[in-house]
This record gives sequence, C-alpha cells and structure tokens, in this order.
Amino acid sequence: MKRIALLGATGSIGRQALQVIDAQPELELVAAASGSQPIEGLAPLTQTGGDLVALLERSQPDVVLNAVVGFAGLPATLWALDRGVTLALANKESLVAAGELALRAHARGGGFLIPVDSEHSAAFQCLEGRAPETVESLVLTASGGPFRGRTRDELEDVTPEHALAHPTWNMGPKITVDSATLANKGLELIEAHFLFGLDYDNIEVVVHPTSVVHALVRLRDGAALAHLGYPDMRIPISFALTYPERAATAIPSLDLSGGLTLEFHAPDLETFPLLALAREAGERGGTYPCAYNAANEVAVAAFLDRRLPFLGIAEVVAETLAAVDGAEAGDLDELVAADAEARAIAQQELAAA
Ligand code: NAD
Ligand code: MG
Repeated sequence: MKRIALLGATGSIGRQALQVIDAQPELELVAAASGSQPIEGLAPLTQTGGDLVALLERSQPDVVLNAVVGFAGLPATLWALDRGVTLALANKESLVAAGELALRAHARGGGFLIPVDSEHSAAFQCLEGRAPETVESLVLTASGGPFRGRTRDELEDVTPEHALAHPTWNMGPKITVDSATLANKGLELIEAHFLFGLDYDNIEVVVHPTSVVHALVRLRDGAALAHLGYPDMRIPISFALTYPERAATAIPSLDLSGGLTLEFHAPDLETFPLLALAREAGERGGTYPCAYNAANEVAVAAFLDRRLPFLGIAEVVAETLAAVDGAEAGDLDELVAADAEARAIAQQELAAA
C-alpha cells in the first residue's frame, strides 16, 4: 500500500488524481488539502487553507502529490524533498521559483522526485537509465494554446473567456492562461532545466498542436525517442503515484488505425514574448526565475480579473524582471523575500499599466 497526501484536491489535477487513486487498490488517500473549498470526509485527514506542512507532518504519507497552483505550493515541495518522501510534482511553480533550494533539499533527502507535468513525465521516461553524455537535448512540445497563429494585433482585445478555451487540455484557469501566453512553456523550460540538469541551450520548445507527442529526447547517435499518448493527465498522475511499478490503467492507448499525422513548427517568440523571457530569466539564474513566476502570477490574476489586457501580462513580467536584482537566495526566507519583492514591483507595474 502507498499512502498518498493530495494537496490541491479540488483542482483539475486533484480531481483526476482522485479518480486514479480510486481505481488503484494499492493507493490509499490518507490526507487531502484544498485552498478554499470544504473537503471534509474526502480523506481521513483533511484541511482547507492553512499550513500544508502541518497536514503532511500529521499524516506522514509515503507520497505527496503536490497539485496546488502557484508559489503557495513551495513549503510542501521542500518538505517532501528534504525528508526523502516521494514527491509527485504537478506544482511546477515551486520548482521554477526555488530550483536551487529544491535540488539541495532533494540531494539531502534522497527520495524520488517524479514530475506530473505531462512533458516532464514523458521526458523523465525517455531519459530514464540513460548516461547523461549520450543525451544531446530535450524537446518540449507546446500545443500553442488557443491563440496559435495569431498576430500581436489580433491579441489586443482577447478576453479571459477566449484565453480559457484551450484546444487540447482541460485545466485550471491559471495554467490555461499560461498556455495561451506560452508562459506555461516558459515555466516548463525552467522546470526541465532543474529536473534533468540540462543546460538551457539543450532544451528546445516546438509547437505541436494536437499534444500527442509530449516530449522527445535526442541522443548523440542521431536517434530521437518520443513519448506519445492522448492528452490525458491521468496517465502521468498514475505513472508518478505508482512509480516505479507503472500500474495498469483503463485509459486507452493511441488508436493508429485511422492514421496519425504529427505536425511540428517553431514557436512565435515575438507574439508570445513570455517564452523568450523565461529562457532569459532561467539563463540569468539566481532569483530571476522566482521573479518571473511571481510577476506572472500577479499579472495572470489581474488579467482574469479584467484589470489587465492580455498583452499586458508579458509587459508586467518584462518590467518586473528589469527592476529586480535577481541575486541568489541562500535560504527559504531570502527566496520568500525575493518573491514578495517581485510581486510588489509587478503590482506597481499593474497600477501604471
Ligand atoms: P486548479 O486551479 O484547478 O487547482 C488548484 C488547487 O490548488 C485547488 O484544489 C485549490 O484549492 C488548491 N490551492 C490553491 N491555493 C492553495 C493554498 N494556498 N493551499 C492549499 N491549496 C491551494 O489548478 P490545476 O490546473 O489543477 O493545476 C495545479 C498545478 O498543476 C499547477 O501548478 C499547474 O501548473 C500544474 N499542472 C496542471 C495541469 C492540468 O492539466 N491541470 C497540467 C500540468 C501541470
Ligand atoms: Mg505541461
């Protein structure tokens, strides 16, 4: 039996995780947390709001599935990594913001860190057991979101409703907006750098509108390995929760009888500047990725609230990155301060916008 603590149980990932846990007799839900919706009775221990670490201490799970959205997921990520408790990580923002701290905690704890993000789950599987020197590069695929193919002019007046209509994935509002701006792929680029120890030069992003190929790994002999499947988050969730057994699921494999066409093209970095900004923030290192994430969270919330136009999201992030010092954070307190500083600057930029 594996005892699971599910953080973010009421969200898109959280609800799909409940289905996976229900269908898998060897998975037992021992604790669940939500941000604001009541969830009493969902698990032996439940919590709404409050300190997630306190719930983890009380429940002592074998696996933490962190499906909280945003920087709020960070203490739980560090708790699991530090203790060597298996971390099934959907909350990419915590790894982006605190990459160095998280890697140190992971090295201390020595447990499994299994990504739930579909591209990273795919990459993890393609990379598993491979000597680092045989790996040339990683390719992350992006659907391109609802605004693929548009020009900047055509994005002036798009509303939250337009941005929330994602073509291939049905997800929570924050990540759906991130997919529309390509900030999601920017966060994933930084996430991949920390997860797999790859230089930014060795991580490519390609647009692949149908989201069937989740990632590819290029090897030094000219081979490329890809991970394919229908876009269904229950597959990477199940993989992470049952690792390394890879339990069976009832989810159908690809149907190839009707033919399968795979289309790839380069991302439009001018129309979607948040992807290039993420690469820059990642390469600069220090707390630049933390500032990128913080400013993006502030700007996306303002866009969803109709206080900021769609194109303003990238502007707020760019202005914030230009204003912060980006100095390395030695510990969690310094990182939390860097996050707060970036949020304050982003708020000022919003007021000025
Ligand atoms: P969502 O908005 O649907 O759900 C977020 C969950 O987090 C909710 O249960 C909410 O109550 C909880 N939450 C928010 N703040 C909290 C707090 N302070 N304390 C405790 N709980 C809190 O989001 P989602 O789409 O499920 O995404 C969750 C995470 O997974 C994000 O980091 C996202 O980037 C990542 N992710 C999601 C998908 C997807 O398909 N939805 C795919 C890949 C990665
Ligand atoms: Mg993803």
